[in-house]
Amino acid sequence: MSLDNKTIWSDTLESIKVSVSPAIFSTWFSQTHLSDLNETNGRFTIEVGCNSSFVKNTVETRYYGLIQDTLIKILGKPCDLSFVVKESPLQGKKEALSFSPLFESEKDNLEETQNALAKAKIRPGYTFSNFAVSSSNQMAHAAAEAVATNPGTAYNPLFIWGGVGVGKTHLMVAVGHSVLTANPSHKVLFCTGEDFTNDIVEGIRNKTTQTFRNKYRRLNVLLLDDIQFIAGKDAVQEEFFHTFNAVTSAGGQVILTSDRPLSEISKLEERLKSRFEAGLIVDIAAPDFELRCAIIQIKAKEKGLELPMDAVQLIASNLESARKVEGFLTKLISAAKVRRMEITTEFVESLLGKGVEENGKLIKAKPQDVIDAASKYFSVGKRALLGTSRARPIARPRQIVMYLLRTHLGFPLEEVGRLIGNRDHTTVMHAVKKITHLASADAQIREDILGIKNSL
Ligand code: ADP
Ligand code: MG
Repeated sequence: MSLDNKTIWSDTLESIKVSVSPAIFSTWFSQTHLSDLNETNGRFTIEVGCNSSFVKNTVETRYYGLIQDTLIKILGKPCDLSFVVKESPLQGKKEALSFSPLFESEKDNLEETQNALAKAKIRPGYTFSNFAVSSSNQMAHAAAEAVATNPGTAYNPLFIWGGVGVGKTHLMVAVGHSVLTANPSHKVLFCTGEDFTNDIVEGIRNKTTQTFRNKYRRLNVLLLDDIQFIAGKDAVQEEFFHTFNAVTSAGGQVILTSDRPLSEISKLEERLKSRFEAGLIVDIAAPDFELRCAIIQIKAKEKGLELPMDAVQLIASNLESARKVEGFLTKLISAAKVRRMEITTEFVESLLGKGVEENGKLIKAKPQDVIDAASKYFSVGKRALLGTSRARPIARPRQIVMYLLRTHLGFPLEEVGRLIGNRDHTTVMHAVKKITHLASADAQIREDILGIKNSL
């Protein structure tokens, strides 16, 4: 590291220090250095060295944007970043260790916790701190926090059910994370109903059921995701029954998730059902618009992506499942990189339109169907809908039709304008903006949009 690079990096870190918490700073940023810097055509290419691949992954995925913005401010020119695993050349020398006393002990703790998390098969990144709470998941969240604070005593088992992508796995993993962070020596294990089944089958086949039992029956916290999977499998349910009893009677905590309520898991043994009923059963409903916005903001921030609020709302009104958010954001980032484009609502819109065409998941309908459906839904004649009246009861439905054609069917602005009474593309753009904005504040508009979509 030349003196210059060193100064640039220490300035960068000084500036970052004020925008993140001290824990985050000493955990992640103090383990980085500037390992290479080149300038070509007024653009800097910067290589950030990280002490381990774990640091690299986290810093790269979560703080890319923050580091880039900071460097741009300091260097005054555009910067492209890359991250590598590399020891700091100053490692071991006194001057590199100005963070050292705090950092060394934190590093030990961190390493211990990281090892414990890996051993427990807990994926990093699903924690309470990045779980957004709203009315749909408030109960489940409170129960999970109670269990994390007092494992084995608050509610046992905790049974969380709900549809796909509502955050069941995230919440369950957050409990494991919290328990291990407080106490890395606890025995915690995350597994799916499928993992559990495979383990047993293997145990029986290889005559290693004892190993299996040692692995599962001595846990302090057992996190079993998608328990519905074991229903109807006799040997598996039998083994699970004994596992459950062994863990809970030794004071351990069990958390289960399911994609449906207990009463709808057919072929689940009665004795298991009654065990589960003895604990706490909570459900999580589908996230509403506000919660989806919050989740999108969290995920964008983790990816170092700056998303304007309109873009967040546009995505939230188009993606109903939180599960699709990450995939979409990844796609957005790479598309923006490839085209070197700033992320604007128009850009997000075009990509959402594409997504619709590609997977056909949202609406596969002809423009005429949308017009017919809206005409029926609002009881407004088609001629009026496509006509020139500016009266609100006609103009608002017209804007909703334009919005749907643009964002849900993916038609270009010009085409939408042509379909809706030969209007100019700027009128369409205005309508899309207007409805996007209204949908974030007005439940009635969201209901209208959903009503039309459902009737398609
Ligand atoms: P489930 O297990 O219910 O199918 P997941 O826990 O896998 O759902 O969640 C799907 C995705 O949505 C994950 O990326 C998760 O982090 C995210 N997610 C869901 N609910 C929330 C929430 N309330 N806050 C933050 N992220 C959430
Ligand atoms: Mg899940």
